[in-house]
Formats: sequence, structure tokens, C-alpha cells
Amino acid sequence: MNNELIIAGPCAAETEHQVMSTAKLLAAMGVKWFRAGLWKPRTQPGSFEGVGEIGLQWLQRVKIETGMAVGTEVANAEHTKLAVAAGLDFVWIGARTTTNPFAVQEIADVLKDNRAITVLVKNPMNPDINLWIGAIKRIQQAGIERIVAVHRGFSVYNSLTYRNDPQWYIPIELHRQFPKIPIICDPSHIAGNRDLVAGLSQKAFDLDFDGLMIECHCSPEQAFSDAEQQLTPDELDVMLKSLVIHERNNHNQELAELRSKIDSLDSILIETLAKRMQVSREIGNYKHQHNMPIVQTGRYNDVIQNRLELAEEFGLSQKLVKQIYELLHEESVNIQLKQ
Ligand code: PEP
Ligand code: MN
Repeated sequence: MNNELIIAGPCAAETEHQVMSTAKLLAAMGVKWFRAGLWKPRTQPGSFEGVGEIGLQWLQRVKIETGMAVGTEVANAEHTKLAVAAGLDFVWIGARTTTNPFAVQEIADVLKDNRAITVLVKNPMNPDINLWIGAIKRIQQAGIERIVAVHRGFSVYNSLTYRNDPQWYIPIELHRQFPKIPIICDPSHIAGNRDLVAGLSQKAFDLDFDGLMIECHCSPEQAFSDAEQQLTPDELDVMLKSLVIHERNNHNQELAELRSKIDSLDSILIETLAKRMQVSREIGNYKHQHNMPIVQTGRYNDVIQNRLELAEEFGLSQKLVKQIYELLHEESVNIQLKQ
């Protein structure tokens, strides 16, 4: 690991002993940022809701004894005041909190007077990029300079593989809009299961993420929360060493040439789409003049069928081509409806 931001630590601080043992092992591996939740937002009442304020002293001890930066989750003004007063280096706004602009604003209001802290903003529970952007803007407007976005996946009903669906295009789009804000991945909460953490971490680096936030516990099976997804510090060490971190070299000639090929193919694609829409408009006029319905299911089925056959011939994914044609058809119908 070189410049990647690696944040590790337990889902929750449980006892001073658990926090210190985990932290010392992580520090010995070279981890520089230690996380532990003190106030835990739990889906069901009666689950372990965190040790609260007392854990701040344990985090302070971690900072003094290991030199790691320490942080916790804050969900309201009170948590934030306590975290700031305890001198924590960073706080994170959890997924449930990002979903709630009132809560984010009260956190931002406390941070206005404490701009030195680093603030991590997790994506909201639901796949709504605007809520994520809104939360980041509220923190930016409080004058915080070091903001990091954290991708932890999105809640979906009956998710099969992952606890939270990654929907990678959302964090990628966020990073496109906010290129100066580093984006890291929390594979633990996406996975919900320790066996999937390594694959997701590699994927995050393949997609050029700036780092990881990983749940790590000295004895994960005994964890009070998220036991299935936490790694031991040893497992984390092995995993981090196995990850392929890509070079960030944008000056490669061969890559530049390939990119310029993509650019010119894209301009042909866009021009062709514009021409296609123009023909749709003409068809719309024709149907209008001859009093014909806009949608003719038979024709639409033939188009889809034929384009899928073509896709197969060219080795293109059927799913991709089907989605593209559904979108094109919707747009054509809209254009013709407006005529
Ligand atoms: C956590 O990091 O422990 C946590 C509760 O995360 P999230 O907000 O992503 O569910
Ligand atoms: Mn957790």
C-alpha cells in the first residue's frame, strides 16, 4: 500500500480490551487510520447500540499509544460535539444519516467551528446520488476542507449476493462530479460476509477508488455487531498484500491512442443517434398525418428481435443492447408524442 487511504477497525467499540488489541495489531501492520463505532444505528431495537461516550477515551488511548488517526460515526449534533471535544481526527456520517438532511445539517452546524476534522460521508441507504451530493455540500458549506466520500452500497429488498447492492456507477458518477473529493469503498457493508470482502476491494481499486474502509475485529465471531463481515487483522494483512493496485499514469502513449479511438467512435455514435431521432420525428409526422397510433407493438418486437440477433453476431451483450433499445424506443415515443 502506498498512498491509498486504508481505514480499519471494528464495526463497534465493545470493550477497552477489544479496541486496544485490535488497534495494536492494525498499527503493527502499518494501518494509519482506526475506526470504531460508538453510537450504532441498529435496524432492530434491542441489538447492541454501542458503548457511547465512554468509548471516546478508548479512541484517545489508541491515538496516544499507536499514533493512528482515530474516528467514529456521528449521527447528530450531540455525537459530533463529543467527538470534536475528544479530539478525534475524523468522523463519518453513516448511510442512514446521509439519508436525512436535517441530521446532516445539524452535524454541519457543529463542524462550522471545528474545520480541522476530516469528514467521511457515506452514501445514503437508497441509490439517490442527489442525497449523497446534498450531504457533501452541507459539509463543504461548513468550511470542512478534508471530505472523503465512502461507497458502502445501497439497500435493496431481498438482495441475493450482497448485503448492500454496489451499483458502482453511482460512486463513479459522484467522483466524476466531485473529482477533488477522494472516494473510498467500504466493502464490509457492501458484502455483509467476510468471504466477499477481498473481491470487492480489488474491484474498488480496479475502478480507481482512493482507498478502503474495512471492518476488522480481534475476534470477529464474538463481535456484538456485524460479526459475519469482519476480518481479523491477520486476514486484513493478507488481503491487503494480495490486492493489485494500478499505476495512475495518464501519460501512456498507447492508452492515449486507444482513448482517442474511443472519442472518435463516440462522436460517430452520437451523430448516428441524432440522425436516428430525426428519422423518428419524420415517422411521427407521417403517423400523425395518417391518423395512426404512435406505438405499434409488432414493429417494436421486430426491431428488438433483429437488433438482438445483430448483437449476437457482433459478440455484444444481449442485456446491453436490449437496454439501449428500450431507452431509444422510450425516447422515440416521447418525441412522437410531443409532435
Ligand atoms: C458502520 O460503518 O459501522 C456503519 C453503520 O455503516 P453504514 O452507515 O454504512 O451502515
Ligand atoms: Mn458495521
